[in-house]
Amino acid sequence: MRAMTPESSRRVLIVEDEPDVARLIALHVAELPAAAHIESDGREGLRLALAQGPWDLLVLDLNLPGLGGLEVCRAVRAKGYDVPILMLTARGSELDRVLGLELGADDYLTKPFSVMELQARVRALWRRAALRSPSHGEALPASPEFLQVAAMRIDRVQRKAWMHGHELTLTPREFSLLWHFANQPGKAFSRNELLAEVWGYGHDGYDHTVNTHINRLRKKLGDGYIDTVWGVGYRFQAPP
Ligand code: CA
Repeated sequence: MRAMTPESSRRVLIVEDEPDVARLIALHVAELPAAAHIESDGREGLRLALAQGPWDLLVLDLNLPGLGGLEVCRAVRAKGYDVPILMLTARGSELDRVLGLELGADDYLTKPFSVMELQARVRALWRRAALRSPSHGEALPASPEFLQVAAMRIDRVQRKAWMHGHELTLTPREFSLLWHFANQPGKAFSRNELLAEVWGYGHDGYDHTVNTHINRLRKKLGDGYIDTVWGVGYRFQAPP
């Protein structure tokens, strides 16, 4: 499902390793208006795209350190995340353009491009997204619908998870905890953060509430998914 947010709070993720080009795009996206976030590494860009959303647009350069723009695009779509994607290609790379659209990009722009061209493409993408959105402009959450982490698959819509194809029996709270972790792999959460973010502010929970749930979830997932970070709390990682 495409998300539409009020124009003033639109967020754009620019994954581009040429600082001048990235800054130029950020500057002109700001006029639309929208807030731009710049990332130069493809792998980190993919992580941000999935974990720090909802985004209203991803701008992906083709050649990036870490992970190429086409791979980022494919991975975002493989997670079921339907955010508008604009690819940036070098002049004359017709093959890349076709590939980009096949892999789920919505449009492409060939470098060098004019400011007006960039803004026109972005406006067109947002118009299309608005038409596809059932609510025409109402804010909706736009996180991916499922995640695959090593042998585990997690479905946000069905609120179910499978390990090696076998469904896990999770309580609603355990599912919420798992989804929260899996959306932000590698990030260490304190028990208080988990209480606030998963149980909700104002919940009469205690640290040991978190510990109990984590221990039960760990037993169900098996070794290697939820690490203890001494002095901090917990972190989710794909097993080695
Ligand atoms: Ca580049």
